Amino acid sequence: MADYDVDLFIIGGGSGGVRAARIAAEHGARVMVAEEYRLGGTCVIRGCVPKKLLVYASRFHGEFEDAAGFGWTVPQTSFDWTTLIANKDREIARLEAAYAATLAKANVSVVKTRAELIDPHTIMLATGDRVRAAYILVATGGTPSYGDPIPGIEHAISSNEAFHLPELPHRVVIQGGGYIAVEFAGIFAGLGSQVTLVYRGDMILRGFDDDVRQHLRVELEARGIRVLTGCKVTEIERADGHYSVRMSSGNHVPADRVMFATGRHPNVAKLGLKEAGIEIAKNGGIAVDQYSRTTAQNIYAVGDVTNRVNLTPVAIREGHAFADTVFGGKPTMVDHAHVPTAVFSEPEVGVVGLTETQARAQLAQTDIYKAMFRPMKATLSGRSTTVLMKLVVDGLSQRVVGCHIVGEGAAEMAQLAAVAVKMGASKADFDATIALHPTAAEELVTMRKRTASYAREAAE
Ligand SMILES: Cc1cc2nc3c(=O)[nH]c(=O)nc-3n(C[C@H](O)[C@H](O)[C@H](O)COP(=O)(O)OP(=O)(O)OC[C@H]3O[C@@H](n4cnc5c(N)ncnc54)[C@H](O)[C@@H]3O)c2cc1C
Repeated sequence: MADYDVDLFIIGGGSGGVRAARIAAEHGARVMVAEEYRLGGTCVIRGCVPKKLLVYASRFHGEFEDAAGFGWTVPQTSFDWTTLIANKDREIARLEAAYAATLAKANVSVVKTRAELIDPHTIMLATGDRVRAAYILVATGGTPSYGDPIPGIEHAISSNEAFHLPELPHRVVIQGGGYIAVEFAGIFAGLGSQVTLVYRGDMILRGFDDDVRQHLRVELEARGIRVLTGCKVTEIERADGHYSVRMSSGNHVPADRVMFATGRHPNVAKLGLKEAGIEIAKNGGIAVDQYSRTTAQNIYAVGDVTNRVNLTPVAIREGHAFADTVFGGKPTMVDHAHVPTAVFSEPEVGVVGLTETQARAQLAQTDIYKAMFRPMKATLSGRSTTVLMKLVVDGLSQRVVGCHIVGEGAAEMAQLAAVAVKMGASKADFDATIALHPTAAEELVTMRKRTASYAREAAE
């Protein structure tokens, strides 16, 4: 590798790139990272972290309301968006600096510029410099996509801009039914905006268990979010500093902001992928094998740019596995099964494993255990809300193959349930675990009665 300027050049200083850089450097590689925006990437700068901070802010609203039932007199409350955004920005800047410090400590060089490939071993920086590398890792992440162009689309914002709005919009229309759309609906509604969520499909949260999708919709509506399904935005007109949003139904909805959260696409454009011999997969991401190696022998890709499972911990795991494989002498594949995931809506969703629909398509026999109950906190707060818990069990092996929760703390519960599901715990193992009382999670180990059982229908 002496003929090269560096052993490893990483394009993208986000979750996957930063982890790969640190671990490769620990294995003794000379590493350089190019980042065109801010170190930390989507998750830290305009994804998971700032989003969760806004979610925390939005939940005080419900807490203030609930407090009265517990004897508290809550004086008139008020909310200041500018303070929240300034405090959030300060925390993000702190994290960005921590990322830079981690890389500096690991002797990784960072260049704050855009990078593109010009051949399998040469990277061109936007500064005009060229770097020759033995290995290259593409970890460029993804970007919001706005779907098919419609008149007035230039007025719409994505999640990127939602983190930096100068003021809290009074009325927001959000188009999209995925987790980002649903989360921002909860954030804005909790902070006091009137929210209309517009989704072209008939149920929000495609890919999640149908009971979860149905249950969450009811809960969102109970919190005042207007959910329009089977509908899409067809035009955004600007009028008197506001927007008039035309729907496919023919109705107009007035708004102060229109947000599109209609999916994300991998950042593969203008990267010189073709020049380097890298192919794109059918899913629009960079095609990789189980070790994240692209069709070019010395070039790898991890994280959202491969469009496998687009979550931060997955990008981190893939980046780590890449570094161990190439520089640590320990070939490591990433197991993408049983990745827990959450929707930080209000109430929260936490899931791991197969949905009922997936299980019934894959397994000879599927057993369902389901519970819906009023959480203890709601008894005194008077809030009309229900928790949903559902276990999907392989009817033959009796292994729990899916766990789906909607309710307060669902994400925290799903992380731990994921350990049991990943280990192959059976329904009997869940039953043998003594409940922790009084919690909502105890329902997961006390669901004795099977709700339904389905044999797979023979293929026609
Ligand atoms: C609003 C939102 C909320 C989310 N919430 C969650 C959550 O709660 N939990 C979760 O697990 N995941 C969440 N995600 C997804 C998560 O952020 C991504 O899966 C994760 O950041 C992917 O990491 P990555 O390393 O692949 O890419 P990124 O983190 O996107 O990093 C890619 C980096 O590459 C840089 N770059 C791109 N092209 C170039 C170039 N040519 N030259 C130099 N630099 C370049 C970019 O500026 C970026 O910094 C969320 C995403 C969004 C948008």
